[in-house]
Amino acid sequence: GERMGMVTATNPATGEKGKSYQAHDLAVAREAARKAHEAQREWRRTSFEERAAVIRKAGELLRARADDYAALMTAEMGKTLTEGRAEVEKCATHCDWFAAHAEGYLADEPVDLDGKAEAFVTFNPVGVVLAVMPWNFPFWQVIRFAAPALMAGNGALLKHASNVPGCALAIEELLHDAGVPHDLFRTLILPSKDIAGLIEDQHIAAVTLTGSVAAGKSVAAAAGGVLKKCVLELGGSDAYLVLEDADVAAAAKVAAAARMVNGGQSCIAGKRFIVVASIKPQFETALVEAMRAFEMGDPTDKATKLGPMQSIEARDEIAEQVEKSIANGAKLLLGGAKPDKPGAWYPATVLTDVKAGQPAHDEEVFGPVAAIIEAKDEADAIRIANASEFGLGSGVLTGDPDRGRRIARDELEAGMSFVNDNVRSDPRMPFGGVKHSGYGRECASYGIREFVNVKTVLVK
Ligand code: NAP
Repeated sequence: GERMGMVTATNPATGEKGKSYQAHDLAVAREAARKAHEAQREWRRTSFEERAAVIRKAGELLRARADDYAALMTAEMGKTLTEGRAEVEKCATHCDWFAAHAEGYLADEPVDLDGKAEAFVTFNPVGVVLAVMPWNFPFWQVIRFAAPALMAGNGALLKHASNVPGCALAIEELLHDAGVPHDLFRTLILPSKDIAGLIEDQHIAAVTLTGSVAAGKSVAAAAGGVLKKCVLELGGSDAYLVLEDADVAAAAKVAAAARMVNGGQSCIAGKRFIVVASIKPQFETALVEAMRAFEMGDPTDKATKLGPMQSIEARDEIAEQVEKSIANGAKLLLGGAKPDKPGAWYPATVLTDVKAGQPAHDEEVFGPVAAIIEAKDEADAIRIANASEFGLGSGVLTGDPDRGRRIARDELEAGMSFVNDNVRSDPRMPFGGVKHSGYGRECASYGIREFVNVKTVLVK
């Protein structure tokens, strides 16, 4: 339903069309890349102090505009206002963190060559990074990348998801208002078919993508073809082990919180709850209770804990995954029915007896659907958790922190492993995955060092 060259937002709570925005084309994008490259050559000469003042200002503006930005997210992708405000605050915290710590993360590192020569490692910016971003955390995903990238001295072009054009342009305006030079950071309203062409442009140094496995493969192939570095933050099907020594009520609370973040539309949402058989009945009861608390409602209402899904198509896909799982032997304990009203609504849903061959077991379910999978014991639970194409986050719920630490540290094939808590991102800790969840890291020193030239200097 798009007019030629226009991108139109749709309110997922009502199905009503919102504002339309003029799309760019590849020629405009390449001109933006050229100008960003020029701007970056000056930006890289600025001091950390100058950059920090700009990024700190971005944090201030985020806080001042939190209500407007939250409302924009609600209107374009259905996030509740409450979660939107929290997301904006998280972005501001991230800006503060990298304004304060980028210089330390990127300080020259001396190398001891037994006095034969002076040597050190230094971190030069790489240039202009193309950022392809998803709709689910429309502000956070962009700022998570942009604050460290700009602090490192890079420029950036943003290609955001097509359903959040207003957010994409608001982020550009925010950074410009904070003092980021106009050409150094630009938002492009660009169809994904033009991304491979833009990656080839000589003024693009590298690319980062947060999104699906399919998009990741296509971007990695394009980047590989021209030997440009990429960071890929892709999907996940995070498993939480629920061991027989767990406090079942507490475990169910962590599980529901992990599953229901952002209406279940999070890469690091808990998606598979692998429960040791002896406590499965208790856990089922407790999880249904905890999930029932997430009642669907108007996302602009403060009390609402579950808004609509991002789109009708996405909702229908979730419904189909649930139906197929049930047809293949899963048992429905809660939810599972599309409500009969306009908009992209889907209720909190719990499936049990989930097994291989069911979408809830084999695929990423990007909505409010918790899958309970039975395991014989700890070893069986670890085996099931690791038998996934994904490896983003993971969790262990246990009464014994030493046992949890051992499993998290040594056994789970994931980029992140949390014991007795739900996985979340934090500027102080590296974030990313293994296997089809992608490669590279964001946040902390590992994140800011992705888009730098780690340069060895020797002086004799
Ligand atoms: P998506 O379809 O892959 O979209 C993400 C971005 O990639 C959008 O900007 C999209 O643009 C673009 N894109 C899609 N296909 C492309 C292609 N072939 N070439 C270049 N760009 C392309 O993902 P989604 O369904 O919106 O988002 C959900 C997925 O993202 C889930 O799998 C989720 O787990 C993952 N995710 C991962 C993380 C993480 O940090 N690991 C965080 C959030 C989400 P258009 O909108 O124009 O198609």
